[in-house]
Amino acid sequence: MNSLQGQIALITGASSGIGAACARMFAQAGAKLILTARRQERLESLARSLMQDFNCQLYCLALDVRDRTSVEQSFANLPPEWNAIEILVNNAGLSRGLDKLHEGDILDWEEMIDTNVKGLLYVTRTLVPGMVQRQRGHIVNIGSIAGHQTYPGGNVYCATKAAVKALSEGLKQDLLGTPVRVSSVDPGLVETEFSEVRFHGDTERAKTVYQGLTPLTAQDVAEVVLFCVTRPAHVNISDVILVPTDQA
Ligand code: NDP
Repeated sequence: MNSLQGQIALITGASSGIGAACARMFAQAGAKLILTARRQERLESLARSLMQDFNCQLYCLALDVRDRTSVEQSFANLPPEWNAIEILVNNAGLSRGLDKLHEGDILDWEEMIDTNVKGLLYVTRTLVPGMVQRQRGHIVNIGSIAGHQTYPGGNVYCATKAAVKALSEGLKQDLLGTPVRVSSVDPGLVETEFSEVRFHGDTERAKTVYQGLTPLTAQDVAEVVLFCVTRPAHVNISDVILVPTDQA
């Protein structure tokens, strides 16, 4: 039931956290993987480890999802044997700061909107036509509980994840009548590099985020993603919210 034998899956933001955990689970399930992120050395190190552990086929692609031209060209130039992408995990994303909106840093806003919303759109717009043409495909968007509820200082990040939720629903509507499925996986707090990135590398501040609760692991989320993409063709897991048991 959980086999992805021979299926080509592309994961954005595969260099750490949830994306890397999805790569590991997919590799174990027999998928052929296209790993993308900006930090190529991280991708290559992950690829070496996955090849050693699962003997899987991998293709690493250094990619900044904010760069529309690069997204289009990189996917257009994939070797032919990697073209038939069946699974897309739109995972690349980040949060910056926890500032009040009226005191926020505009460059932080642009980075979040460009990555979480526009980046996801560029990748989706480039890859989904091929799925429709081949009549096979599944897109998993990693949203967030932040797309369902806004917390203090979360303003712009929450808005980007509310946009991801709307885009997942919109894409699902637009693909009705095709066999291409769309799932939205929306986690609560997950312990990854996310908090360090949010606080620009301030590890002490990042640690405080997890105080008083047991956060999800990246693997917890990857297990849900694997579940979504291994259902029978007539089943679409449309939206999953998973949170730590002790998160409000
Ligand atoms: P990480 O910081 O560990 O991973 C983020 C990934 O996104 C990295 O691989 C990073 O790769 C990639 N990325 C960031 N910017 C870009 C870019 N411009 N182009 C390409 N790749 C990019 O965090 P998580 O694993 O936690 O985050 C993954 C997703 O999960 C995000 O969408 C996040 O919003 C979401 N999420 C996280 C939660 C959490 O508590 N951790 C909760 C709910 C949702 P690189 O820097 O190499 O480019």
